[in-house]
Amino acid sequence: PSRHIHSQHRTTSFGFKTIPEESKESLVKHVFDSVASSYDLMNDASSLGVHRLWKDAFVSTLKPGRKGPLRCIDVAGGTGDIALRILDHARESYADRETTVDVLDINAHMLKEGFTRFKKTMYHNTPQVSFHEANAQDMPHSLFKDDSYDLYTIAFGIRNCTSIPAVLKEAHRVLKPGATFACLEFSKVNNPLFSTLYDQYSFSIIPLMGTILAGDRESYQYLVESIRKFPSQPVFAQMIREAGFATGGDRDGGAWTDLWGGIACIHTAVKL
Ligand code: SAM
Repeated sequence: PSRHIHSQHRTTSFGFKTIPEESKESLVKHVFDSVASSYDLMNDASSLGVHRLWKDAFVSTLKPGRKGPLRCIDVAGGTGDIALRILDHARESYADRETTVDVLDINAHMLKEGFTRFKKTMYHNTPQVSFHEANAQDMPHSLFKDDSYDLYTIAFGIRNCTSIPAVLKEAHRVLKPGATFACLEFSKVNNPLFSTLYDQYSFSIIPLMGTILAGDRESYQYLVESIRKFPSQPVFAQMIREAGFATGGDRDGGAWTDLWGGIACIHTAVKL
């Protein structure tokens, strides 16, 4: 399968190969088909476990506009990392066993990993969690109704979508007025020295780990590259506003919160 990816690449200034936008959707599907079974292991290895801290911070800082129980949707939810944290947080902090999370992902393999994982939890076979194969850019209106969710989350997913504005438009559609949009994504590192070190690490170590742990260098190369192409914090915040959301002030600590100097970033906004 990795040969298929290879044939669609062209070379960037880093010497790695870039994927043309037009084939991005099928390629992203292929990448996540390929990495699904090793995804959780690779996440831990490539971030040295830090993605867990970021996800914990993401969920614990969410401030939905109203008290629970909440109707949540976790888009590009993959193996269910965020959904599980939302449900645990509701239960542990508010003794809430009625909050629900609909996990949506375009990739059936990733969802299957999530479903299997939830089997070992108390949420399995309860109305609290459900898994749906769908495109974040065009969610079926009959299932994902207008003005129906209290909280929309998307973690490390929006950069893999072909059209960010289409995702934001759908997020806006399904949220209730006054409800919260929250996105956790890799972002732009501000400090130039740190940025150089981070580039060295991610462009050499992560594809190498992909080769060793998952036998798939190119998919991990793609994932690193997609991080570099994602808009900077202020540009993304502006896109969120253009979709009809209100954000805090246009800075770190306002519209967004940088994690680890901007390696990752949380954007939150409220549907107007
Ligand atoms: N949110 C999970 C997490 O934080 O561990 C998974 C993140 S994983 C890096 C990105 C996910 O985005 C993959 O599961 C992929 O299938 C999904 N994805 C990519 N494009 C999508 C789209 N257009 N609609 C829905 N999901 C998409």
